[in-house]
Amino acid sequence: MTRSSGKRFLWHPFTQMRGWQGEAAPCIECAEGVHLYDTEGRRYIDGISSLWCNVHGHGHPDIDRAVREQLGSVAHTTMLGLSHPPAERLAQRLVEIAPGGAPGAPGPLRRVFYSDNGSTAVEVALKMAFQYWQQAEAIQRRRTRFVSLENAYHGDTVGAVSVGGIDLFHSTYQPLLFDSIQVPAGDRQALARVLSNRGDQIAAVVIEPLVQGAAGMRMQPRGYVRTVRELCDAHDIFLICDEVATGFGRTGTMFACEQEDVVPDFLCVAKGITGGYMPLAATLTTERVHDGFLGRYDEYRSFFHGHTYTGNPLACAAALASLDVFEQEHTLERLQPKIELMERLLHERVAPVYHVGEIRQRGFMCGIELAADPLRGESYDASLRVGHEVTLAARAKGAIIRPLGDVVILMPPLSIDERELEQLVDITAAAIAEATGDQVFARAA
Ligand SMILES: *Cc1c(COP(=O)(O)O)cnc(C)c1O
Repeated sequence: MTRSSGKRFLWHPFTQMRGWQGEAAPCIECAEGVHLYDTEGRRYIDGISSLWCNVHGHGHPDIDRAVREQLGSVAHTTMLGLSHPPAERLAQRLVEIAPGGAPGAPGPLRRVFYSDNGSTAVEVALKMAFQYWQQAEAIQRRRTRFVSLENAYHGDTVGAVSVGGIDLFHSTYQPLLFDSIQVPAGDRQALARVLSNRGDQIAAVVIEPLVQGAAGMRMQPRGYVRTVRELCDAHDIFLICDEVATGFGRTGTMFACEQEDVVPDFLCVAKGITGGYMPLAATLTTERVHDGFLGRYDEYRSFFHGHTYTGNPLACAAALASLDVFEQEHTLERLQPKIELMERLLHERVAPVYHVGEIRQRGFMCGIELAADPLRGESYDASLRVGHEVTLAARAKGAIIRPLGDVVILMPPLSIDERELEQLVDITAAAIAEATGDQVFARAA
């Protein structure tokens, strides 16, 4: 298939459309494994897992088959008042793999509310937490506020933006947003202070555990998520963990919370849940939260929220197949040496490039921060769009990456093999060197 003239009718997300027509961005026609192929027949490594969601590679035969088989049964049927087998089977699998759960033994997170993207998964958690307290004893009804972290990203719907903290994405919409209490990420004292001063007004604390992805892969200090959990417990405040980016193996474990033995009250998942195949999300919560919505019909305690494609059967089938692949291919076990290899390659090949400031990595989430003057820590002028220039250079060398400002993001599918990983890192190093006008200088120690 060649390219149609339909390009001019598109409006792309997070994209300045002026200049877009001239930019000749690839039009992806097909994909296999970790490779994308455009309509010109050029091949690229998918260095960002098609925006952080692909897990086992493209065109995985088992997931393909599961979706096809489900197509033979039903493509879509509603979850409003009805159910279907893939939704039920997936709910059971999710509560077993969720933090605190085990095969045959669901943990505290034992209710699964489906939606269809990460923003809505968070939106659902916010509304559930809020409504729960409104339906609790009178003294709890003042719990109407949310605490969120600076530089947080929880999605683009108005509720999710209200608990977000990235100025560039969020400041324009300020008048539309509800007010959340922001604390600096990683600062235990600041959170402790807010909770001890105003704990009785707070419905929930919402965090991205371990790594703030869209902030540019900012890492939290060890033990931070654990501390947040303990502080929430001390004040009977819900903890919402947004694992939309970190979930499904990204940080090296199935969920990031596990690494600090934390079970949140709400677990929001999306991106990787279907292996990157279909739009699906879930908000997992406890029986305590669920039971707070029980009542007589005319008490109107139902959770009044649901999307048309909530829990879509094709998407649930893809998700079930993806979880099977995790087991059959020992995805997480095989990931560990690749995480170490990536760390070593970044150190050997990317770190020496002069304009590389800091490299941050947790599992298969990596951010390479570029700096105009790395020794003085001076950043580039935004108008230079250096991150974007790196993307263009990488594309010409056969890799698709997408920066966050001047942080180059690497987030390959977990299935990438050692050779492909090495190629991706080499292309990235060369692209950074080219875009920043560097020879590869050895860095002064
Ligand atoms: C991507 C992302 C979201 C939003 O998910 P969408 O599916 O794009 O709506 C929410 N939270 C985090 C942490 C994310 O990375």
